[in-house]
Amino acid sequence: MSAVIEGRSGPWEMVIGLEVHAQVVSRAKLFSGAATDFGAEPNTQVSMVDAAMPGMLPVINRACVEQAVRTGLGLKAEINPVSVFDRKNYFYPDLPAGYQISQYGRPLVGKGRVLLDLPDGATREVGITRLHLEQDAGKSLHDQHPAKTYVDLNRSGVALMEIVSEPDLRSSEEAGLYLRKLRSILRYLGTCDGNMEQGSLRCDINVSVRRPGEAYRTRCEVKNVNSIRFVQQAIDYEARRQVEVYEGGGTVGQETRLFDSGRGATRPMRTKEHAHDYRYFPDPDLVPLVLSEEFIAGLREGLPELPDEKKARFVGAYGLPPYDAGVLVADQETAAFFETVAKGRDAKQAANWVMGDFFAALNRTGRTIDDPPVSAAALGRLIDLVADGTVSGRIAKEVFEAMVETGKEAAAIVEEKGLRQVSDTGAIEAAVDRVIAANPGQVALFKAGNPKVLGWLVGQVMKATGGKANPKMVNEILRQKMGA
Ligand code: ADP
Ligand code: MG
Repeated sequence: MSAVIEGRSGPWEMVIGLEVHAQVVSRAKLFSGAATDFGAEPNTQVSMVDAAMPGMLPVINRACVEQAVRTGLGLKAEINPVSVFDRKNYFYPDLPAGYQISQYGRPLVGKGRVLLDLPDGATREVGITRLHLEQDAGKSLHDQHPAKTYVDLNRSGVALMEIVSEPDLRSSEEAGLYLRKLRSILRYLGTCDGNMEQGSLRCDINVSVRRPGEAYRTRCEVKNVNSIRFVQQAIDYEARRQVEVYEGGGTVGQETRLFDSGRGATRPMRTKEHAHDYRYFPDPDLVPLVLSEEFIAGLREGLPELPDEKKARFVGAYGLPPYDAGVLVADQETAAFFETVAKGRDAKQAANWVMGDFFAALNRTGRTIDDPPVSAAALGRLIDLVADGTVSGRIAKEVFEAMVETGKEAAAIVEEKGLRQVSDTGAIEAAVDRVIAANPGQVALFKAGNPKVLGWLVGQVMKATGGKANPKMVNEILRQKMGA
């Protein structure tokens, strides 16, 4: 899936690494007991620690550590039994302490991996470099007063996981797949709600370009992009910009840039010379975080079945194509819905219905899998009506639409509308005779060896029976009567 950029002087390849900030699902903050609810009145969820009052001491929140370890395990990563919290020093109005507590040299989680599910059903591995815990900062509000900036410290001290990938991604599509898969894993684990609009998942993008096979070149970093579409736009713009710089004889300098979603373009924020010197050092208020083997093992045992394992099970136990399985396991609710539909039925049929008509109905009605227009049980009963020959596959689609509209059961709709499939040989023969009599030209063509006409004739019989004739029988009887 790697995208090659055709420059004037030949092809270029994109190299991309992502740094994702994921807000930890936790009732309290990383080092204080203050609440973390989204959308609360400004400055109503701020403890003395979050406001950096003199003499206040941070106390680590065990629940946040558990969430970060579980995330590390979900990313198949090494969990470091000893990690250290550092102070990352910088001055900004929304950072009352003058430093952020983060992890630098010794993060909680080391190398791991995320598997991308490619459209052709194959997978590709992207390396995870590390995951560490850190505090979020507060928020400056510039739009409340014409001449003043206000500060809201509700977010100050909220736990974030920074998840850093290796520079393994080769196109904006792959970056999109990576973010979707990462978000899916986080949601399965319940460690981050993955809500990008509310800022629970934000992304810094590192992009460089190179000649295929060459060593990596200098990268630029695009800060704080909060939608997958914008991430992809920013990557494509930035890669193209760098190609133009190189082809114009210039060099790309390491710099931090911002993405302007209105223009779909990136612009410089600061260059390397103006890069922050954060003067990291271990926070003297916090001892190293030491995890026992039992603590980690206990969390490992409590992990749910994750998307990759579920996908493998769907392929193995249900015989689904890998692509279908990947789509169905993207979120737990859809996977559970599918399993209810598939129970005791043809799994491929169930997958086709869920991914086809059912997903289309969700889109059209704007409803979600938690509040579906047709329940999994009701969809299953419709599939049974096809399997036992009560309705044809084509009529079943019509029944499904009526189920979406009325909320009624499939069987009730079939009776009400008289949609039962006609499998009565006499009735079908009569219709076939009429069609043959009315279309001597087409029949002659068929007899002369043009097999395509058969489909057209079947269509005529289906039309004559209001779509209710059993198509297999129509086919057979037509062939018989035309002497094939
Ligand atoms: P920093 O801590 O300064 O941001 P890192 O070395 O930790 O730097 O890298 C941050 C991110 O940049 C990682 O996601 C990594 O994959 C990515 N990255 C590193 N080198 C390159 C490169 N040449 N091109 C694109 N991305 C890169
Ligand atoms: Mg960085």
